[in-house]
Amino acid sequence: MSIPVTITQRPPERAESKARLREIRAARPDLAARLKTLRTFGRRVRGCEIHLTTACNIRCKGCWYFEGGFDSAVDETSDPGLIRAFAEKLAADGVTQATLIGGEPTIVLDRVRPFVEHLPYITISSNGLRPLPRDGFENVAIGISLFGGGPLDDALRAHRPNGSAFRGLFETGLKHYRDDPRVTFVFALSEEGLPYIEPTVRAIRDNGNLVTFNFYSEHGSDHPLRIENEKRTLAEALRVKELYPDTVVSHPYFIEALITGRSHWGAQFGYDVCPSISVDLPEHEQRVANGNPVLDGFAVYGADYDTLQFCCTSGDCGNCRDSQAVYSWLMVSLNWFLDSEQRLETWLDLAESYWRQWYWSQSHSPNFHR
Ligand code: SF4
Ligand code: SF4
Repeated sequence: MSIPVTITQRPPERAESKARLREIRAARPDLAARLKTLRTFGRRVRGCEIHLTTACNIRCKGCWYFEGGFDSAVDETSDPGLIRAFAEKLAADGVTQATLIGGEPTIVLDRVRPFVEHLPYITISSNGLRPLPRDGFENVAIGISLFGGGPLDDALRAHRPNGSAFRGLFETGLKHYRDDPRVTFVFALSEEGLPYIEPTVRAIRDNGNLVTFNFYSEHGSDHPLRIENEKRTLAEALRVKELYPDTVVSHPYFIEALITGRSHWGAQFGYDVCPSISVDLPEHEQRVANGNPVLDGFAVYGADYDTLQFCCTSGDCGNCRDSQAVYSWLMVSLNWFLDSEQRLETWLDLAESYWRQWYWSQSHSPNFHR
């Protein structure tokens, strides 16, 4: 697939979008019904992200968290009372979803529990070295990071904090989570790893898990988004998606936007359009006012459970292609998908694939209808 670009000079007016949507709904009740389901579920999810700990049991090459100094920027707390009160306050404020990152959440399970007890939709981002138990964490979505695939993954990720290397990190994750419906691998593609994409996805399929694509960018290097042959990378990612449509959750439109950074209306992904920012930070005032949508009420907290962070990842906007930020950008851009029924259909497919990434929003999950 290739996203045909229609350069539009101005964002659609609200009234214009509403009128278009009314027309399409009248003409296509099937699309109207899908949109309603998505909006009903979307309204239930008010998200935040929390740096649960500054510690990690490995040191990946190019990790934005450590290379960007996030581990030392705020003082981590391990105070269970404070963490519990924080989770309670989130719930009282109407937050329903938390993405727990680190560092590595599985090494601080006592900090995961209060969130599981108070919020219905929890995702943890893990490297897969330690398993998240089922008992008490039955409904938690687990995103397992994976860099490059094949031997590249160990080369990039399998390094202990003391610098020594080990082997088999991906295989360890597979072993921990065989046929575990909570798990989606978050596979950061890299140009060097093109030959490994298909076998890696096949291994995930054979293990009974799902995979969503991310883009490997080496934080701290001169060329974080190292990509010389965009077309080749895109073609291979789309080919593998076509071969394993059920295992690869990512929608082809998303895959193209992720790799190229571009949308069909001619926008380039970056700070001006990125919705995954801590909206209450004063430094985002101009961004919030520029008319491009943000995620309502979204906030990212440091490991002191208090300090607001710039955004869901490194804050290095010029070199960012964070998969969840790109997906969120497309999700909040419905107004750009109203120029035809087909385009709206694409957005609906995209939105359904976005939610399918996480166990708690899959229809078979016990939390789905909460
Ligand atoms: S597992 Fe995550 S936090 Fe730990 S080093 Fe790797 S990328 Fe960084
Ligand atoms: S670093 Fe990425 S996710 Fe963060 S604000 Fe910039 S573009 Fe968005």
